[in-house]
Amino acid sequence: MYKAPVEEIAFTLKHVAGMDEAFAAGKFGELGEDLVDAILAEAGRFASEEVAPLGDVGDRQGARLIDGAVKTPEGWRDLYHNWIAGGWNGLTAPEDFGGQNLPHMLHVAAMEMWNSGSMAFALGPTLTMGAIEALEKHGSDDLTATFLPKMVSGEWMGTMNLTEPHAGSDLGVLKTRAERRDDGTYRIFGQKIFITWGEHDFTDNIIHLVLARLPDAPPGTKGISLFLVPKFLVNADGSLGTRNDLFCHSLEHKLGIHGSPTCTMIYGDGKFGDERGAIGYLVGEENRGLACMFTMMNNARLAVGMQGVAIAEAATQKAVAYAKERTQGRAPGWSGEGMSPIIEHPDIARTLLTMKALTQGARAIAYACAHAVDMAHVSTGEDARHWQERSSLLTPIAKSFATDAGVDVASMGIQVHGGMGFIEETGAARYLRDARIAPIYEGTNGIQAIDLVTRKLPLSDGDHMRGFLAELRQIAAAVAASNRPGFGETAARLDASIADLADATDWLLSALGAGKLAEALAGATAYQRLFGLALTGVYLAKGGLAETGDGKEDQRMALCRFAAENLLAETAALKDRVVNGAASLAAARSVLD
Ligand SMILES: Cc1cc2nc3c(=O)[nH]c(=O)nc-3n(C[C@H](O)[C@H](O)[C@H](O)COP(=O)(O)OP(=O)(O)OC[C@H]3O[C@@H](n4cnc5c(N)ncnc54)[C@H](O)[C@@H]3O)c2cc1C
Repeated sequence: MYKAPVEEIAFTLKHVAGMDEAFAAGKFGELGEDLVDAILAEAGRFASEEVAPLGDVGDRQGARLIDGAVKTPEGWRDLYHNWIAGGWNGLTAPEDFGGQNLPHMLHVAAMEMWNSGSMAFALGPTLTMGAIEALEKHGSDDLTATFLPKMVSGEWMGTMNLTEPHAGSDLGVLKTRAERRDDGTYRIFGQKIFITWGEHDFTDNIIHLVLARLPDAPPGTKGISLFLVPKFLVNADGSLGTRNDLFCHSLEHKLGIHGSPTCTMIYGDGKFGDERGAIGYLVGEENRGLACMFTMMNNARLAVGMQGVAIAEAATQKAVAYAKERTQGRAPGWSGEGMSPIIEHPDIARTLLTMKALTQGARAIAYACAHAVDMAHVSTGEDARHWQERSSLLTPIAKSFATDAGVDVASMGIQVHGGMGFIEETGAARYLRDARIAPIYEGTNGIQAIDLVTRKLPLSDGDHMRGFLAELRQIAAAVAASNRPGFGETAARLDASIADLADATDWLLSALGAGKLAEALAGATAYQRLFGLALTGVYLAKGGLAETGDGKEDQRMALCRFAAENLLAETAALKDRVVNGAASLAAARSVLD
């Protein structure tokens, strides 16, 4: 059973991702290290003892649509209510609305643990938090006063309604319609698909944020507006009023996250209310809806990245435990009686260490991204701009590298289990099934790569990226200067990977500068992975350099060395694909005709 790795998480936050520096600079105000440790410990306890035991039930039972109502898996409603009673829903929400306004770093760490317990369960609150953020930034005073306190407390949950059957990655073509009313409200008509936790029995009201188009809106993304559309209208005294004209038409049958209802939502077909059209309230300005969504998109993408880290961690724990128990064959050098535990076989040990290294690398990247978000929040002027750019740069990598790691590590976990990995009762298969959605939603990883290459690399004319590369080189230099034999070839391997990253970056920036967009995009995904792998090496090294006196220094150095000498060689091949792959791709295109 999953046990939250609270110490490893705290170590990564403090010694790798930058929390210590933020404390030292007084950036976290009153928040002390003791409180951070206490929050992490309690989030970990809740995830291990309360969420994880119900993860399997959720997978087996799934969410069911019965007479128009969604029934969640046994025990999940109580679990949710225990979770909000613990105050977890409002960790980073503003204090004015009942939140705790804590740093985002703490939040992503807690999210990791809940998602390890059950990704399908944690997904609901993740969507609510996204809705809270969008509403807080763009909602009118009336809207925020009416809806935010109950969303922050968790009494009501929120959803994000973007996708339509013909409008997924490209929202510019969405068709859901909004009509203006004389009283300043709007009526919404249309169909949204794949809406996570669009209907359920956790809360009495569900607050949908819906993208729709006004009749006179310009075409494309500049003609999309954002509306708050509650399941039940809210009376002036805050009590629930009439049912709004929307409903869940059906649930999807999915590969994984079975406990999370994925709903087709119908707005304005006249099923409820005395007049057709779901009543909606404008959030932000007309035709600026996508911009409103984008302000919370970075954090939502990072949240999905945390799902990748979470699954990778849980899958690794399960595989290590199995490999210590299961005996088969005799490993070279095995001196015990009979068969050896499979963990003694070099191939299994290599697999498990690869899983560990990818998990820890993905975690460090994601936490570093959250650190940048926090720093941007508490800084001003040039500093704020620097940290804003850093979080923008790291977000696509945190989302894509971590979610790819979730899938890869979960798959390796099945392999370690042998045939039993393919059998549902071990639970290893669930991790792979659950993990598989994360590279797809919240902007596919292919879309993240386009974002990274075309929008993030050119930040400050490439200077931000060049500055970041210089920081990475400093860490590699510190490894070399440490002269610790335990690092093996780490310093040289890091230098080579950072050079691959720098070369690929220069090539992409000059291709973009020359207007060669197709050539640049041909290697975008390879570049994104190259970036994630190089960062994995560097962040593991930063962890390996930390002297904490916790007795884990040698282990951290050994994992870093393993990653440097076993995983980082891939960066050279990835660089080659970025720099030399485009011509052959164009030439082979007709093969697909
Ligand atoms: C379980 C689940 C939960 C979801 N939850 C929500 C939710 O709560 N709210 C919501 O609004 N949506 C939700 N979604 C929708 C999800 O965000 C979309 O599925 C996702 O954005 C991809 O859109 P699509 O499925 O239409 O794929 P498409 O956009 O058709 O993409 C298909 C493939 O083409 C690639 N592609 C598309 N455009 C480009 C391009 N310009 N350049 C290069 N490659 C491209 C993609 O990377 C992908 O590999 C959910 C989906 C699922 C399955």
